[in-house]
Amino acid sequence: MIRIAIANQKGGVGKTTTAINLATGLAAAGRRVLLLDLDPQGNASTGLGLRRGQRAHTSYELLGGETTLAEAALATNVPRVDIIPSTVDLSGAEVELADAEGRAYRLREALSEEQAGGRWDVCLMDCPPSLGLLTVNALTAADHVLVPLQCEFFALEGLSQLLKTVERVRAGLNPVLDIIGVVLTMYDRRNRLSDQVAQDARAVLGDTVFETTIPRNVRLSEAPSHGLPALVYDHRCPGSEAYIALSRELIGRLSGSPAKVAA
Ligand code: ADP
Ligand code: MG
Repeated sequence: MIRIAIANQKGGVGKTTTAINLATGLAAAGRRVLLLDLDPQGNASTGLGLRRGQRAHTSYELLGGETTLAEAALATNVPRVDIIPSTVDLSGAEVELADAEGRAYRLREALSEEQAGGRWDVCLMDCPPSLGLLTVNALTAADHVLVPLQCEFFALEGLSQLLKTVERVRAGLNPVLDIIGVVLTMYDRRNRLSDQVAQDARAVLGDTVFETTIPRNVRLSEAPSHGLPALVYDHRCPGSEAYIALSRELIGRLSGSPAKVAA
């Protein structure tokens, strides 16, 4: 199972939208996907149609060692996409784990091959908007990190902070961690600033930036209120088409990396 953390400490940059639609795009390409909701807001869970009452076991319990992957994973309405949901309980985890032994390694243990038992090809972790212990756990458990970058002012400033954290995790906790790519989100071609940020990002980050850019598209923001990925809600809208292209690009990048997803 290839583990990918979707991270950026800024809120509202498209992490959850990317997690849901990449999960769906990868599943459409035949991969068995586990989506791990690591945000106490539970937007990935809601966006995949999980009602509160269905969240029997959560990522909070997984971090606390009170449940296992096998027990916590729930099927969604999307074929080949399972989810481990989150609830607001998770907001306490940062504090509760603060002094725990091996606190940064909780997820790595929970997501080990032994625990996953060959049930999934890919695990996508939807991180919260902070660089706290939850994100550090995700980065420590991950083979790769994928960074959504919103095409707006200050986008690159926030990125350097994230890259420092990735560097620290690599140095101290998880030497194999790499950045599989930065995806530009909410790109508006009529907006000059959006275009400028996209150009700057490509100039600074080069090939790290995915060729696929996710456009600003209202269908992407409507879909979660129906409990559906945009790829299911309206698979032909520009946003869905972009996420399908991104899924393909990601599979291509992963197949070139040591931990292969393209089976
Ligand atoms: P994050 O998880 O980083 O906080 P979200 O994925 O929840 O970000 O996105 C923030 C808001 O923007 C949500 O309301 C979402 O529906 C909307 N959104 C995300 N991506 C797009 C897009 N490409 N076009 C239009 N709206 C988007
Ligand atoms: Mg989110």
